[in-house]
Amino acid sequence: RVGQAGAMAETPLQILNRVFGFPAFRGRQQAVIERLMVGGDALVLMPTGGGKSLCYQIPALLRPGTGIVVSPLIALMQDQVDALRQLGVRAAFLNSSLARDQVERTEHALLAGQLDLLYVAPERLLSGRFLALLERTPIALFAIDEAHCVSQWGHDFRPEYVQLDLLHRRWPQVPRVALTATADAPTRSEILTRLQLPLDAQFVSSFDRPNIRYRIVEKRSPRQQLLQFLKREHPGDAGIVYCRSRRSVDETAEFLREQGFQSVPYHAGMTAEQRRANQARFLREDGLITVATIAFGMGIDKPDVRFVAHLDLPKSLEAYYQETGRAGRDGLPADAWMTYGLGDLVMLRRFIDESGAEEQFKRLEHQKLDNMLGLCETTECRRQVLLNYFGEPLPEPCGNCDTCLEPVPTWDGTVAAQKALSCIFRTGERFGASYLTDVLLGKTNERMRRFGHDKVSTHGIGLELNADQWRSVYRQLVAAGLVAVDVEGHGGLRLTENSRPLLRGERSIRLRQDPDNKAQKRAARAP
Ligand code: ADP
Ligand code: ZN
Repeated sequence: RVGQAGAMAETPLQILNRVFGFPAFRGRQQAVIERLMVGGDALVLMPTGGGKSLCYQIPALLRPGTGIVVSPLIALMQDQVDALRQLGVRAAFLNSSLARDQVERTEHALLAGQLDLLYVAPERLLSGRFLALLERTPIALFAIDEAHCVSQWGHDFRPEYVQLDLLHRRWPQVPRVALTATADAPTRSEILTRLQLPLDAQFVSSFDRPNIRYRIVEKRSPRQQLLQFLKREHPGDAGIVYCRSRRSVDETAEFLREQGFQSVPYHAGMTAEQRRANQARFLREDGLITVATIAFGMGIDKPDVRFVAHLDLPKSLEAYYQETGRAGRDGLPADAWMTYGLGDLVMLRRFIDESGAEEQFKRLEHQKLDNMLGLCETTECRRQVLLNYFGEPLPEPCGNCDTCLEPVPTWDGTVAAQKALSCIFRTGERFGASYLTDVLLGKTNERMRRFGHDKVSTHGIGLELNADQWRSVYRQLVAAGLVAVDVEGHGGLRLTENSRPLLRGERSIRLRQDPDNKAQKRAARAP
């Protein structure tokens, strides 16, 4: 027995050493474990790879009873359980992939007190049969993995997750820990509310990767730009180049080989055999470049990846963060480099619109893309924008991103920003950027007349900029935290605490200057 046998004597640190073979806790692991050990609840926010599992595995071993882990990732359960068993932990899982007799064996082991950890799919957990079993067995804790699945506005919404608050009602004395890598503020508060976790239960690990230098350049001839970047900064280094399409993966890999860089392709159109071989080479060899679609990356833990390059725009900041996060795991300097152009935007918008998904989902995807654009367009520290999105404001500019190192040309957008903000205010803080832009440009349509917005004082006061520029102003205001996007509603924009000083004229704002943009210069000169 790994677990409770020595429970009285052992501390969480001793379990970490003896069972898992690690010398020390990382980040907030110890704090979370201590909280659960005394019967408290916790919400754990850690980036992927941050070490969430130990937060519930160790208390499950130390507390009397079985730790019940709810997870929607059925495909991963077998692996997780196998890994635990190799360490001597008595773990099992229950999901729809099991045969009847396997289920019965596991249920029997649970009732006999022979399990330290039991992974269950949410629909299984909520079944009357399983809940009745739980009534008859001591429970060490409930771990709710991928807790963002409770959010109705997220990608991964699972209706069963909303019902998980019943665990608290039926077993009020059993500690619960919810875990996720999705940490934007609305999702976080939705998890707390729906699972009825106390406000002080949050344990947030830093998402910052200070050794990664973020850079985003305008897309002109992406392969040539990539080549210059590699020649100048990464000759002989291992790295990953992400492209959107399989064709462009093949072509880029070929191009790099012609230019004398060792590279292999990786995408879902290749055979499993080829993919495995290329991935194995990447992990084993020095200085190999993998050119890949987003199919590449799950479980890639190569410490010395010196750069991650994007030739195409990812669809969200979550994706960008995860993909760039594969660089510099060893803590040494690494680059996250990307080319980005308007074509990316058009393509991704079209993907979303033609996806056949529900309207609400599409709206959310568009909004995620807007946030991604906010990062591309910011004149401020990229790391601050990125971390702000993940709910972790960085007080000072980082000094290790392109905008910190080479400030971009800007224009005085104070007056434009004031107009944009008052237009949000005058129309009731409920409308999106396109509608607000129409109002500023003095357009009239049926909807606008119905709301009387063709009569508001901001109607037609924005003729000095065109529609693209106004949308860019709004994107930049969102990126700067001066405007919030209403995730709970319909993606409407509203003012924030920070908007007031700007509206009152107590502060000014500089906006990114797009190349060849005469209208913005004119607006900047206007009194
Ligand atoms: P997450 O679920 O947050 O993505 P995992 O729990 O799978 O992350 O942990 C990621 C990796 O980090 C695993 O290989 C795990 O063994 C390792 N790990 C976790 N905690 C520690 C620690 N305190 N010391 C060393 N390695 C750790
Ligand atoms: Zn910076």
